[in-house]
Amino acid sequence: MRRILVAIIAAALVVLAAVLIIRTNRFHSRQLAVEPIPPLLLDTAAAAERLAGALRFRTISNQDSTQFDAAEFRRFQDYLRTSFPRLHARLGREVTGGFSVLYEWRGSDTTLKPILLMAHQDVVPVEPGTEGRWTEPPFAGRISGGFVWGRGAMDDKGNLMALLEAVERLVGGGAAPRRTIYLAFGHDEELGGTRGAARTAALLAGRHVQLEYVLDEGGAITTGLIAGVTAPVAVVGIAEKGYVSLELTAHATGGHSSMPPAHTAVGMLSAAVARLEANKMPRAIRGATAAMLDYIGPEMPYSRRLALANQWLFGPVIRGSFGATPSGDAMLRTTTAPTIFQAGVKDNVLPSTARAVVNFRLLPGDSVATVLDHARRVVADTQVTVAVLGASATEPSPVSPTSSEDFAVVQRTIRQVAPGTVVTPWLVVGGTDAKHFAGLTSNVYRAGVGVIGPDDLKRVHGIDERVDVKDYARTIAFYVQLIRNSAF
Ligand SMILES: [Zn+2]
Repeated sequence: MRRILVAIIAAALVVLAAVLIIRTNRFHSRQLAVEPIPPLLLDTAAAAERLAGALRFRTISNQDSTQFDAAEFRRFQDYLRTSFPRLHARLGREVTGGFSVLYEWRGSDTTLKPILLMAHQDVVPVEPGTEGRWTEPPFAGRISGGFVWGRGAMDDKGNLMALLEAVERLVGGGAAPRRTIYLAFGHDEELGGTRGAARTAALLAGRHVQLEYVLDEGGAITTGLIAGVTAPVAVVGIAEKGYVSLELTAHATGGHSSMPPAHTAVGMLSAAVARLEANKMPRAIRGATAAMLDYIGPEMPYSRRLALANQWLFGPVIRGSFGATPSGDAMLRTTTAPTIFQAGVKDNVLPSTARAVVNFRLLPGDSVATVLDHARRVVADTQVTVAVLGASATEPSPVSPTSSEDFAVVQRTIRQVAPGTVVTPWLVVGGTDAKHFAGLTSNVYRAGVGVIGPDDLKRVHGIDERVDVKDYARTIAFYVQLIRNSAF
């Protein structure tokens, strides 16, 4: 009897091992083979100088919109006109929301759906008191040590200027696209894009324009950021997270602190916030994150490849190890972040209310309604109300397909200008203006070929924002090639 049992277990293990190995062997690389392209001959120094010039304009999006400097945006747009004269002579130009610009390079074949290439004009402010810690002043537009330095170099004037350089060059060479190309440059992306990109999208929707695809910021070539893959990895955003802040208010009897009730407003609110932290929305491997594991898994060493090829067995282990870092966790679930906590005015007075704000970033598949529902269920205290704060709630974007020809074009273009790069879909944990165009196409991608290493993440919105001149030249080549691959 015992022997039979041992034999059955041994046979089961053999079958299990066979299934694991067969699935691992079938877990093929999804990287496209591409023909090499000749390098783009470019006056890199002149292009870098034009970018440096663009960084000197303080086109800042302040949280307080009354500080908006309209004259500076006008001067910046005049600078674009003088820097790219051939483009401005050839393309149509419209303005939405006062300062967002939409260019149209009309194609010869009206049966083809247009493409829309995006960037934004505005930048975040420099945190007061940190100016002196910059290697080069943030708005001086200096080039040194092989870098163009300044606020906006990475986010997002580098992309904006590179797009204009690419089109200026193609127009100058006498190129005429078959497919219409739009360039859309918002002016309030850092504030959500509701005055800019949203109105541009509404303008096109009003004309019944359907787009082939949209390409925006939000991707990069990463080095040393994805454990287990030694090659550079280009991340292409196929979805972005949603956003909602919930306001928790605890109500209690106020009064003198010498005879406190059993439960105070501060105590109840603290417990409610602690419960939310202890009971987060569950982790899930789905959508963009699942697609990413399918693309990077086959590029990994055998043991990791085996685990990723057999998620039916190793799912919990993968979720645990991937979610161990805050950045990994953010790709697996709707995050919970208490950001504001307010109560009390005097040390011997019990406040009658206490208020907290908890910010959630929504995983595609969750919604503002399901998060609100979850929070109310977890807080479960009739003395604590939970409500959506303000009007800034945004649902997660749809997940764009990786099976489309458009995703393949983006992937092929990246591998043409950056040979040997692994391309993978991913989930953008921040927000971009691209989300406003989701109604015009299901193919919304966020990509770029700027290089981001472990040292560079903090430069975005931080100190010493800069772009490598060589990377900038490659970004121009990327847009030239993308337009050639898509529209000619
Ligand atoms: Zn940006």
